[in-house]
Amino acid sequence: MRNVIILGSGCAGNTAAIYAARAGLNPLVVIGHEPGGQLSITTDVENFPGFPEGIQGPDLVENMKKQAERFGAEFIWGSVLEADLSKRPFRLNIDGEWQETRTLIVASGASARWLGLPNEQKLIGHGVSSCATCDGAFYRDRKIMVIGGGDSAMEEANFLTRFGSEVTLVHRREQFRASKIMLDRARANPKIKFLLNTVVDDIFDVVKNEVTGVKLRNVNTGDAWEQDVDGFFLAIGHIPNTKPFAGQIDLDPDGYILSKGGARTNVTGVFHAGDVQDRVYRQAITAAGAGCMAAIEAERFLEAEGH
Ligand code: NAP
Repeated sequence: MRNVIILGSGCAGNTAAIYAARAGLNPLVVIGHEPGGQLSITTDVENFPGFPEGIQGPDLVENMKKQAERFGAEFIWGSVLEADLSKRPFRLNIDGEWQETRTLIVASGASARWLGLPNEQKLIGHGVSSCATCDGAFYRDRKIMVIGGGDSAMEEANFLTRFGSEVTLVHRREQFRASKIMLDRARANPKIKFLLNTVVDDIFDVVKNEVTGVKLRNVNTGDAWEQDVDGFFLAIGHIPNTKPFAGQIDLDPDGYILSKGGARTNVTGVFHAGDVQDRVYRQAITAAGAGCMAAIEAERFLEAEGH
């Protein structure tokens, strides 16, 4: 029987592990299907406080893990396949093995949706990004492309005009999912060029290990062409990793955990941390803060229950 099981090994999970371990709770961290979370797929992180020269994303998250291990946190490979939160202790099926825990911190994140092109995966962190706030500043005076037709795409395209010499927004159809106000703002921005009814068929250049261009296709005419690009930003949505909890933890229509204040969910003893609940900020530092909050709440909950 565990005091705390933490799901996810990104900034939120690892920070929760540091706090829970220092509180003597011996947390078990389930690493999940994306070890290290979103930070593990970025390169330079320049906005995490405390690193004036910046730090590599994978190093930052690995440091957090080591810090948690120093205080006794245990990490295991695997993902939660099934959960029974109907009574305490909670029961979790982790890759076929059931574990029991008095409290649970869900820090399983939200995975960026990708186009699924083979070269896209190879160039993540080398010109391909799913986070304009994180990586926009690397493309000063460069050519930027944003994919998507929702509010995120509009917001990111607008934001990226601060850096890029030009921003091309590529959307697969003519109608937008974005709200009118966000769309109008992007349309009024002279630095944003719209390419509609257009899809990306390939991204170059894997050999150079950096993005140099893309192959585009108009879905109506079938016309295909190549365009030079330096920074390629996906804004086609995120998928929160909450599947095993559907019907148990209250989720919003897109699957994000609905907070009941602080780090609390609707299930007493189950707490949330990071992107699995946050569709607004999604930053390493806010996830770390949320992990801290969840661990403090779990600790106080256990203390109140006499553990
Ligand atoms: P979204 O609204 O689901 O939009 C995703 C966009 O990506 C859609 O235009 C979709 O095209 C496109 N897309 C999805 N899969 C694709 C694929 N495989 N290939 C090409 N295009 C693809 O997601 P979001 O923009 O991230 O927004 C999520 C939620 O957060 C929304 O509720 C939004 O309002 C909110 N949000 C609000 C703000 C704000 O108000 N400041 C900012 C950001 C996000 P189709 O339209 O053709 O399906």
